[in-house]
Formats: sequence, C-alpha cells, structure tokens
Amino acid sequence: MQCPYCGGDAAVLDSRTTSEGVRRRRNCSNCKRRFTTYEKVAAPAVKVVKRSGRSETFSAEKLIKILQRVSRDRQEFGEEEATRLARSVEAQLLDAGAKSVPSSKLATMVLDLLRDMDRLSYDRLAANYMNEAGILRTTPSSSTTEGQLGLFVGEPKGGGKLK
Ligand SMILES: [Zn+2]
Repeated sequence: MQCPYCGGDAAVLDSRTTSEGVRRRRNCSNCKRRFTTYEKVAAPAVKVVKRSGRSETFSAEKLIKILQRVSRDRQEFGEEEATRLARSVEAQLLDAGAKSVPSSKLATMVLDLLRDMDRLSYDRLAANYMNEAGILRTTPSSSTTEGQLGLFVGEPKGGGKLK
C-alpha cells in the first residue's frame, strides 16, 4: 500500500480483527512514518459450497444467528462474542482471497474459534454439525440438537437418506 505522506511503499506491521473490521498498522519503508488503516469488511462474495454441491453466499449474520442458537443460555457467549467470532471468520475468508470455501472447511474454522471461547457451545455446534453431515449415525433425539442449522451442510430436508 502507498504511504499517504510520501507515496512510498508501506508494509503491514500487524493486523488485528475487531468486531467491525480489520485494523492494520503500517510502516513506510521510505519516510519511516507509521499510520493505521481501518478496513471495514464489506459484504463478502465468498461462496460456501455444501456437500450436496449447492452453494450459497457466506453470511456473517446467518452465522451469528446459528451461534446464538447454540449458545442461547450461555452467559459466557452472548451476542458480542458471536459477532466477534463471525467477523473473525469473515476476515479470514477475505484474507485468504478465495472465491469459495467448502462447508466442511468453514465449519472447522468456526469450531476452532468457538472451542477457545465457549466449550459447551462448541460441543453443541460440533454435535449438530456432525449430525447434519451424517458423520454421527445416531438419531438426533436429544433436545440440544434442534434440527439442522443449515449454513454448513443444509439439505437434505426431511431426513434424506444417507448412502
Ligand atoms: Zn512515507
């Protein structure tokens, strides 16, 4: 990126993901001035490709809703935490520069972050995801897994047959 003072090359010193976007500190290699840029995360055009082959545009809002559902009785993990996690995932997707991401990869990213933030919500989401993906062959009779969350796998509705 160009230095706003002298037009020289400015390198990134560090970047930090906040709930509202990515903040980067930069250092100009020419005039040595330091400055900060703040990147608001725009609506990303990253496609989530599901196992069925269908895809949908990644939505941080949808992810936040899913997170709030699995953590609805958790004081440790409220709206603020859900938003932070979703924005962080969004920033990772944008940083990677990929046009699409497999739903399994997205689920791994979300679960990795959630595990460190709230273990119980992590367990619930992991169980739900594995049910959806057919990794667990158990019948989802437990009340902690309330049907399909949709973002990661989606379909088959109405208990489609597993091969
Ligand atoms: Zn400069």
